[in-house]
Parts: sequence; structure tokens; C-alpha cells
Amino acid sequence: MMTEYDYLAIEKKWQKKWEDEKVFEPEVKEGKKKMFITVAWPYPSGAMHVGHARTYTVPDVVARYMRMKGFNVLFPMGWHMTGTPIVGAANRLRNNDINFIKIQKERYGVSDEELERMKDPKIFGLYYARESELGYRKGMKALGLSIDWSRECTSIDPQFSKMIEWQYRKLKGLNLIGKGSHPVKFCPNDNNPVTDHDLLEGEGVGINEFTLIKYDGEGEISGLKFPAATLRPETIYGLTNIWLHPDADYVVAEVKLPNGKIENWVVSKSAASKLSFQDKEIKIISEKKGRDFIGKRVTLNTIGRTLLILPGIFVDPEHTSGVVGSVPAHAPFDFMALQDLKKNEELLKKYFDEKTIDEIKKIEPIKMIEVQGVKSPVEDAIAKYSIKSQNDKEGLEQATNEVYKLEFSKGVMAENTGKYKGKKVSEAKEEVKKELITQGLGDKIYEFTAKPVICRCGSNVVIKVVKDQWFIKYSDANWKDVVREQFKKMRLIPQETIQYYLNTVDWLDDWPCTRYVGLGTRLPWDKEWVIESLSDSTIYMAYYTLARTVNKYKIDPEKLDDEVFDYIFLEKGNSEEISKKKGIRKEIIEELHREFAYWYRLDYRVSANELIPNHLTFMTFHHAALFPEKYRPYGIVSLGLGILEGKRMSSSRGIVFAVSEATKKYGADVTRFYLMYMCEPWVDFNWKGIEAESTKKQIERFWYLANSIIEMNKNKNAKKEMIDNWLLSRLQYHIKEVSDALDNFQTRRALQHAFFLLQQDIRWYQRRGGANAQTLVEVLDNMVRMLAPFMPHICEEIWQGLGREGFVSVAEFPSFDSSKMDRKSEIAEELVESTLKDATEILKVTKIKPKKVVFYSAHRWKCLAYRRAAEFAKKGMLTMSEYMKYAKGENELSKNMKEISKFAPKMIETLNRMSKEELDRFIIEIDEEEVLKNAKEFFATELKCEVEIYSADDGNRYDPEGKAFKAMPMRPAIYIQEEKHEEKR
Ligand SMILES: [Zn+2]
Repeated sequence: MMTEYDYLAIEKKWQKKWEDEKVFEPEVKEGKKKMFITVAWPYPSGAMHVGHARTYTVPDVVARYMRMKGFNVLFPMGWHMTGTPIVGAANRLRNNDINFIKIQKERYGVSDEELERMKDPKIFGLYYARESELGYRKGMKALGLSIDWSRECTSIDPQFSKMIEWQYRKLKGLNLIGKGSHPVKFCPNDNNPVTDHDLLEGEGVGINEFTLIKYDGEGEISGLKFPAATLRPETIYGLTNIWLHPDADYVVAEVKLPNGKIENWVVSKSAASKLSFQDKEIKIISEKKGRDFIGKRVTLNTIGRTLLILPGIFVDPEHTSGVVGSVPAHAPFDFMALQDLKKNEELLKKYFDEKTIDEIKKIEPIKMIEVQGVKSPVEDAIAKYSIKSQNDKEGLEQATNEVYKLEFSKGVMAENTGKYKGKKVSEAKEEVKKELITQGLGDKIYEFTAKPVICRCGSNVVIKVVKDQWFIKYSDANWKDVVREQFKKMRLIPQETIQYYLNTVDWLDDWPCTRYVGLGTRLPWDKEWVIESLSDSTIYMAYYTLARTVNKYKIDPEKLDDEVFDYIFLEKGNSEEISKKKGIRKEIIEELHREFAYWYRLDYRVSANELIPNHLTFMTFHHAALFPEKYRPYGIVSLGLGILEGKRMSSSRGIVFAVSEATKKYGADVTRFYLMYMCEPWVDFNWKGIEAESTKKQIERFWYLANSIIEMNKNKNAKKEMIDNWLLSRLQYHIKEVSDALDNFQTRRALQHAFFLLQQDIRWYQRRGGANAQTLVEVLDNMVRMLAPFMPHICEEIWQGLGREGFVSVAEFPSFDSSKMDRKSEIAEELVESTLKDATEILKVTKIKPKKVVFYSAHRWKCLAYRRAAEFAKKGMLTMSEYMKYAKGENELSKNMKEISKFAPKMIETLNRMSKEELDRFIIEIDEEEVLKNAKEFFATELKCEVEIYSADDGNRYDPEGKAFKAMPMRPAIYIQEEKHEEKR
């Protein structure tokens, strides 16, 4: 074994050995407990950076831990290449994008020859998946991940596509796939629907459907329609006026509706462009300003009122149609704008004559919803957020939300709402909307829930109503119910994410699952469409169970039809018949099924927090629809995000610290250790080079400690002292903590015990004169096994140095053995440690140079008094009166009642605050005098002076100041004799 920590050599050596001996390529072993863990397969459009490193190290640590706990563990990997980003990157090469090419060459070291080949998107993806030094496979190998590479696959493998075809045909058969006009996020530049994976900005933004209510112009504007957008169509009975932004751009447009009807609409200019993607043909007739219509009037048949068009500067022309129907009794914005206008003489005079100004001043909110016990939710909310004008957007938005929620859940339609009178708002809403639309007075418009939404290509994403769009019916109520039940049975980590999942299930709507272009699987019954990337990666974990067999026999994809997958996944049919029919050997078909049935269910899925509202929920939906309960996923661990020195990492812009660069600079073990120790996996992290550097030093020190123990082992001495029992007992305590931490995926807590606290104990042991090779080897042996999941290479090397057989990677993980716990010696050591600390503290504060230090252990009766009190406290019934009554009855205590009554109140208070473990310090009987005497030499060395030990019970003790009476249990009294003259504590 070498003594220098040559991490590069060590890491390379063990990675090769693992690979040569196929340590991480598990076979099906019927009867052996298994664990199947997967992590999001990477999208290889660029380098693998240290942010990714944590994502992949967490499951690796879990996989390694479970393997050592005796599980047959499968941890596979593949590449997700579906969709447009890789196509987009290849296009940037084709289009000779100078910046992009520069980053490829200079930052990632791609050769010209390679770049030429990478114009083919498949080659581009596979380059970063497999070839590039800074790419994924090499990064993962450099990290020493215990992946079964024999199952490597991609989402564009033809055999994989066959499984996706099976999946979609099954879903369609279950009536979970629909087709129709559907609003989707769409990039006009790429002429393709986009999903969150394709976005630069606006991930997770949803689409709201607004009702458009079309008001008819009167008088000189008759023939024009003013479509105002609202989420609350039921409030039409409270309408008082219309708002337009006086300075914004509007248009008069000829609108051809899907039914062929033509109308002339007045909408904001940006709304006209928006609507042209939403099933309307738009021809602009003239451009206007909002002010051109101020003071004109419109009507709405249903309510039989004429409404003035008024100026509202809060109106956002970029939002929906730019036309707003005003309901001041139920909408805070409208309420404030009306109030502002009535007070603004200047503005009134600018647009209106005297008579109209009078009319405006008389406009009052028309209340048409009742909420029991609340007079005006709008006025309450405005007061609550101290809103002063329509310009207080933030406050008004909060107020709007609050009023909306309150009136939606508790509101009832009032007297003045005709046939809706007495109905719940939540019901009337849908009915009014339906009525408006059937009467031709209503329409709809879609809008993002937040902005901006920007495509990776840099263009603004729009909402397009795609005709003939295929979608997955996540809105299906029965399906949702099954998924909700499923989530409740799963182990979700951290636990509180359950609410996030259930919320997602609640709001999840139909999901457009196809697009026109991109890599991936074509929709089997409508080959014009490609299944998009979030929709083709919902059951891909199942493919890993088959991938090795598929790869081994190079199974012809054409033979893998639905009948074969029905047999593999659902045990339908007969292998012999299928074999004859398809021309695949029976053993192969049976092996595929055996692999699937053994490895499935997916035990743990590791993924990022941000995938909860899409991928992780979709995965659960699809498994619930396609597989019987025993094959549905069990656990999900969701991880926090990573940043680099405070900045967001971006592969495409070259802002990365690649994994292979980190492992060269610090080593794989240091990188892994640092990522696992800086915080628990679900917490966001910030990679700092300076911290990685200091982790490296700590691991180096560990290396030297391990080496020195291995050296010692060569000249054994077998004499065990009290302190050996102590260290071995501490070891058991740490084993218990580490196992518990890892069972809960707490990597930081595990390392705290396995590495830092255990080494602290070893240092104390050595300081206390501990030098038993057998003890230290036992500790190191266990330590290396606990650390192996985190830093496997250095642990293999030390394991070998210890002369152990085989790989530590598959050695047995230490299990807690309570018989090796020795609480007595732990308490004794606590006494020594705290006594030394007390003495050192006194010397430090008084600056005395001691000639002699004397320690006095407490009177035996005091120890008894404490022991009895602690016993009572442990049972949870220690009171002063009960205790004193008891003490009078016990012979040895009754003699000292006067003394006891002095310290009892404080003792009782202190003991009552202690945990059961802490109370043991007073209950478990140790001979304090003997413990201190055994440590006499140690005290002398540490305090650099003569040390004497006495019991307070010793009549012949040296005690010039009568200190001994102050000694308490676990807190010896101290007398210090100064170099020249005597000093007191
Ligand atoms: Zn785009």
C-alpha cells in the first residue's frame, strides 16, 4: 500500500477492477431481495457539470449502501435524446453559428472533424453522452458511479420505440388519449409546440382560459364588437362600464371565427396577433388608440344595460384582449379605477362633456354576489392591503385573488341576477359561460399564467390552438383518483412533498403529447406526429430491465410488437406460441419477462424538485394506468438545485465546471464527499472551489490516519483498557446513527457521524493513551465500510491495506450491535473529559501556573441522592415534596437531609430537563474516584503539573481549603496549588 494519497492512481485502479469483475452488473437471483433505483436520464446536449454530479451521486450512495446491506441492486443509465434541443444544437452547427462553434471548440475541445459529424443530431447527442471527455458517460465513470453499463440505452433506440408504441396504444385503448383543438405552448420560430424542457424562461407557467364577452358598439360604433376577457363571467350582472387604456394601441380587425362567421372586433394590437394563433383568422382593418373609443357606448343583451367606455390606465394591453368589463362591486381593480376617475377632474374634462361627467360621478358599484357575514369583500381587501390607487398593482393583485377565492367558494348569486338568483357562484360561473357562448355572445382566449415564456431559440413562446392535437387525458377524474391513492401509499422524500404532488394531481389538465418535429418515437397510429419528451419518458425505467437482454441478443425491433410486451409486462399469452409467431427464441422471451418481473417495481426514483409538477407526477399516472399495483413505483427522492460559485450553470453558454474537470482537480472521492456533505440532498447547494479544496485536505488526513493504523497492525499488542471499550462503544453509536441517516437519505448526517465525529473519537482515544491496534483496526474496518458508499475508491484501497478479502463495495455494511455498547465507559469518559475541561477553563481564566491540581469526587451519599432523583425523573414523576419524603425514608440519605434540602431544588430542576439518555449518567453507577484515578497520568500530562485524586469520603485526603464538600456527582471539586503560593477555585 502506498503512503502518499495518489487519488488519480487509486481511482483509476479501482474503477478498472470494478469494471473487469462486473461488480455492478447484477443478475436476477430469485429469492434474493432486490432494489431497483433510477435517476433522471440525462439529456446529453452538452457537458456534464458538477450540478449534475450531485444528482447522480445521491442514487449511487443509496445503491452502494443497499448493496452492502445485502440487496441485489440495479442502478442503470441511459440517454434521453427525444425532442428538439439536440436537434437545435445540431442546427446551430449546420447554420454555422460562430459563437456556438467557438464554445464547442474552445471550451469543450471538439475537433473540426467531430463537429462536422455532429451536424447529425443523433451523433451530437451520442457525442456528449458517450464520447466527450467532458460528457456524461465519462463523467459518471470518473465519479465511480456503480452503474450497470450493460443496460445502457437511449430513447431513440428502435427497440425502445417499440415499447413506447405499446404504451401509447394501450393508453388509447383505455381511452386516455384524446384528439382535438387544444391550446399548447408554441414557438412560432421553430413552428413546433414546446414543453418546459425547451424553454429558456417560463418553466412551469400554465395556460388560463378566459371567457371573452362580446359587447356591441352603439351609435357611431355600431357594428363593432368589444370582446372583454374575464375569469368570472358570472359577474356580468354587476357591470357598470368598459375600460380601455386610452394611450394603448388597438385595432379594428375582421375576425373569421372557426364556424366561418365574420365579425369586426376591437382588441389591443397584441391581442390581434395572439388570437391569430388561437383558431381565428384575423385581418386588421384599421389601427386605433384606446382614446378613440372613450366616451362611446356599448350594450350587452343579457343584462339590458348600456355601458360607457371609460379610460383605465391599469388596463394591460399585452394581457388577454386589452378590453376590460368593469364590475367595481366584485373586482378591486375596477373599484379603484372608478374611484380614481371620479376624483380626476382634469381627466374627466379631457374626455367628457358636463352631462357625461355627471353621469360618471353617479356610477355606483352594483353588488350581485352575497357572501354571508361580509358586506363588501372588495372594500375589505382594499383596506387590508392599504391600496390607494389603481397603480398599486401588487396590492390589487393580492386583493383580487382573495376576493375571487372567497366569492367563488362562499358566494351566492343575489336578487338581481335573474334566473341565477340563489345559485352558488361556483355553479353559476359555468352556466353563465355556457349561456353566453351558445348565444354567440361569448368566446374564449388563452393567456399564460405568468410571463415571459421564452423558447431556447430566443423567441417569445405563444399559445396556439392546435387542431387535431393529440393529448393525454390527465384531467380524467377516475385516473386522478387512482393516482392520488397511489401517492398516499408511496414513500416521498422529503415527506412534505406529498402536498406538492397532490396539488399537481388536482390542477393537472390534458397534456398535448405530440409535436411536429424532433427526435423520438412516432405516434403509432398517426405517424405525422412525434411523441414529445416528457411524454415518452414516463415508463422508461421498465425498459432498463429489458435492455441487457435486448443488447445481448440484438433483438430485431420489428419482432417486438404489442403481443411480446403484453407477455413481458402483463403476463398475457404463452411464450411458446409467441416465440413461434414472432420468430424470437422462447428463452429470450422468457428472460425478458423474468428480468422485468424480478426488478420491477421501481423502488426509488431520484430526481429534481422541479420535476414534481411534470415528470414525477406523469410517471405515477402512467404506471397507475398501465401496470398492476405490484409494479407501480414506490419511492421518490426529490433533490434541490445546484449553482456554481453563486451562478447558475449553463452548458450551452459554456458556464460549467465539468465533472471530469472536478475529478481531475480534486479526485472523485473528494468531489462525491463534498457534494454529499455540504447539505442534505433536497437542499439547494452552491459549489465553492475553496470548500472542495478543504474537503480534500480532510480526506488526505483521513488517508494518513488509516495508514498509521494499518502500520500499527503489523506490531500488535493485545492489552485492552477501559478506553478501548469506550471507543468500541462509540463506534456502535455512530453505526446506529449512520444507518438511520442513510435509511432516510440524509447523506450529510451520515458523514457527520461516519467521518467527522468518529475521527474526533479516535483522536480522544489516542489522547487518552489508547493505542491498541486491534481496537483501532476494528474501528477503521467499520469506518471504511460506512464510508464506502461515499468515497468508494479510497475505501477499497484501505480495505485492501487492511488485508480484507474482496471489494469493500460489496462487503457487509456494519450493523448496530447493542452488546458492544458500554454506557459505563462512555459515562466514565464523559466525566474525564468534562473534569479536564473544567480545570483547563479555570487555569485559563485565572492565568495561574499550577504546581499541583487536586480533584475530589463527590460523597457517595450525594451520588446516591442524585441516582434516586434521576430514577424518579426518568419515570417522569420527580417533585420536591415526593423526593424529600422518599429521602427521609432511605437510611443513607436521611442522615444528610440538611445538605440535601440545599441542593435538591436545583438538582430537581436540572434533572427534569434532561433526556432519558442524559439521566443515565446519574443512574448508571460508576466509581468516580476510580475513574479519575485511572486518568491521573492523563490529567498530569494535559495540565502539565502534578495531579492528585481523592474521594470526599476519604478522611486522609489532602484538602487544605475544604473543597471536597463542593464536589457533586459528575462534577468533581478542584483545588489548585500555585507555583509560588496557593490559589483557590
Ligand atoms: Zn423556438
